[in-house]
Amino acid sequence: MPGTIYLCTDFDDREWAEWLPALRGALPGERWITRRDDALAHAAEIDVAIVANPAPGSLQGLPRLRLIQSLWAGVDRLLSDPTVPADVPLARMVDPAMNEAMAETALWAVLSLHRGFFDYADQQRQLIWRQHGQRRADALRVGVLGLGEMGRTTALRLASQGYAVTGWSRRPAALPGLRTTHGPEGLRTVLRDADVVVNLLPLTPDTRGLFNRERLSWMAPGASLVNLARGAHVIEDDLLAALEAGQLHRAVLDVFATEPLPAASPLWRHPRVTVLPHVAAQTDARSASQVVGRNVQAARSGGALAHLVNRMAGY
Ligand code: NDP
Repeated sequence: MPGTIYLCTDFDDREWAEWLPALRGALPGERWITRRDDALAHAAEIDVAIVANPAPGSLQGLPRLRLIQSLWAGVDRLLSDPTVPADVPLARMVDPAMNEAMAETALWAVLSLHRGFFDYADQQRQLIWRQHGQRRADALRVGVLGLGEMGRTTALRLASQGYAVTGWSRRPAALPGLRTTHGPEGLRTVLRDADVVVNLLPLTPDTRGLFNRERLSWMAPGASLVNLARGAHVIEDDLLAALEAGQLHRAVLDVFATEPLPAASPLWRHPRVTVLPHVAAQTDARSASQVVGRNVQAARSGGALAHLVNRMAGY
């Protein structure tokens, strides 16, 4: 039974043009409210909020709300907003198409590091013709931090390419063809034993600033860091110092403490840093709208809600 949905976002014109038709297609017959003043006028009818970076305070005063559905996978921003009603179930975006996109980005980064393609691109800029030795994939040790939706897909994809993958999670996990480790005691091992570390952790109080001077010093000399999760996982000054000291060989970064990355950031110009503008896995409006549609229908029919956030754990 259709109802009234508050679509509460910071979308620009391009995003509205992409998302509104896709959501309308997945949830036909709904009344869509897209402005805060309209939401207040229809507060008694709105039972679902679909959100993407909602402005603080915008979910207050909606007494019938029974589902907050995020269009984004990461919910750290929503959880840090005390005005988001804590008693309404909060679901995040989990879309197999996004997991695949993330695995592709990670594979590109790991393969490029493994085969020295970033170094060869540097050589081309300097007109240097120099061949380096070629390692077998199974000689490259890859640590994947976070074995959730994205981390699991990524770790399995990397293992299927022949890399020697170790995964790290909060609780014990088992994945075919992978070594796994968990908890604070497992962190030192996974960092120490990897040539490339791929970060796919959620941003929580436990993981914020994880890559600081001390943890970076646990990494194997000459290892590389691929951060595809959240910028605040990395203390950028400590990373730059580790690169300068030669402790780390390279960093491939898709996410930053401040986004867009400020022009003054030394990361832009560092010869051994590759910068991507937060594009490792974009939400696909068409497939994500189907995911949203199923959850809204479950909320309306009293069915089980998928991909609920554990507010205590922070992800
Ligand atoms: P999930 O919530 O599905 O997975 C989280 C994983 O991290 C779980 O394996 C969890 O362990 C583990 N974890 C959480 N806390 C800790 C901890 N303290 N110590 C060890 N392990 C921990 O996240 P997703 O896979 O959906 O997302 C991963 C990251 O990717 C997020 O930061 C998200 O914001 C980011 N992202 C980035 C995008 C981009 O374009 N760059 C796009 C989309 C997402 P356990 O299994 O035990 O629960």
